[in-house]
Amino acid sequence: MKLVLIGCPGAGKGTQAKILSKHFGLAHISTGDLLREQVKSETPLGLKLKSIMESGGLVSDDIVSELLSQRIKADDCKNGYILDGYPRNVSQAEGLSAIVGELDRVVDIEVADELIIERMSGRRSCGGCGAMYHVKYNPPKAEGICDSCGGKLITRSDDAPETVKHRLDVYHSQTAPVIDYYNKKGIVLKIDGSKPIDEVSKELTELLEKL
Ligand code: ADP
Ligand code: AMP
Repeated sequence: MKLVLIGCPGAGKGTQAKILSKHFGLAHISTGDLLREQVKSETPLGLKLKSIMESGGLVSDDIVSELLSQRIKADDCKNGYILDGYPRNVSQAEGLSAIVGELDRVVDIEVADELIIERMSGRRSCGGCGAMYHVKYNPPKAEGICDSCGGKLITRSDDAPETVKHRLDVYHSQTAPVIDYYNKKGIVLKIDGSKPIDEVSKELTELLEKL
């Protein structure tokens, strides 16, 4: 199965992708994670990306598409994959069909902008294993420590409210048109992402099991 999860920053794409990836045995590919790995390792590419990502702008299509093409060749993608954070504009959506062919479904996780600032300011992720938490909606057992691996939880610098506002603008102007692009192909599943995490995942799993 080849799935794309679309939704504004903080809609819950990463959270749901991790749950679905375990349930269906699919690889979870987050282009944000692939890019952050480059920044963290201070590769020449990572040094170029740092300021763009910190400002909440989009990295160029060529760079992201190349990272994605490489990642998709890995063994764990043989059974299928869930793309989280890609495509981010219509040109990436057009490029994606050249890279992977037809998709099975595009899941549009809908959440109103008003909920997003709070979600992002409470988001914490594990620097070790990438597990995702929220200080209020999905807190770790011990503050600041990952339940799964004991790693230290970090706050992303691009989750600051001013940057989140900019990322929402970028989402509405560049990414939302991607939903129309896939609507025309009749493959979009819409889901209410404002419900609690386990309700969203239950609904989504049931819908995808019917495919
Ligand atoms: P995205 O990948 O779309 O940017 P995340 O999955 O990282 O979003 O979720 C953003 C934050 O909101 C995280 O802290 C996560 O724990 C929390 N979150 C995700 N889904 C929900 C939900 N349905 N209700 C409340 N909080 C959520
Ligand atoms: P995310 O983890 O999906 O919230 O992405 C974090 C940041 O990585 C974004 O704000 C962009 O700067 C960059 N990014 C992630 N995916 C893409 C993409 N498909 N195209 C361009 N930039 C991306």
